[in-house]
Amino acid sequence: MRRRLVKDVIKGQSVLTLPPEATVGEAARRMKASKVGSVIVVAGGGVTGIFTERDALFRVLAAGLDPEATPLAKVMTGSVTTVAADSTLLDALHLMHEGEFRHVPVLQGGVPIGIVSIRDALGNELEDFRHELQRKEELTEIVG
Ligand code: AMP
Repeated sequence: MRRRLVKDVIKGQSVLTLPPEATVGEAARRMKASKVGSVIVVAGGGVTGIFTERDALFRVLAAGLDPEATPLAKVMTGSVTTVAADSTLLDALHLMHEGEFRHVPVLQGGVPIGIVSIRDALGNELEDFRHELQRKEELTEIVG
């Protein structure tokens, strides 16, 4: 299948969510156990943030914060770009490119049901994406 839908990509995935009060240390252990690179932070049934391995490195480790004393609320990104389950993986890739991040939570009825990461796109979509970017660059050159 050339254009995969995100709901097919995340099939069978269990979504990792934690409340904003959870510590970075707890998040890191859960990420390790689940072998994932991000946590969706939820509060009141909705998505309130995202915390990724990059945040652990830049906002915690590099900043000299204590992971066991730092709540996710302090170091997460609060404004989260999400994608609907019926979107294509290519749509999600465009969002990642524009937002300069590598994870996009998938929502169904406002509830997170999974997360797509750049790693999910190592097949056909990456090729399509490269072509589209190239076309965009060519058009920008023509238009100025
Ligand atoms: P990443 O490349 O996914 O590890 O994330 C790079 C930065 O973007 C980190 O500060 C993340 O918290 C943030 N980030 C990751 N995914 C998203 C997203 N879907 N919406 C908004 N910010 C994000």
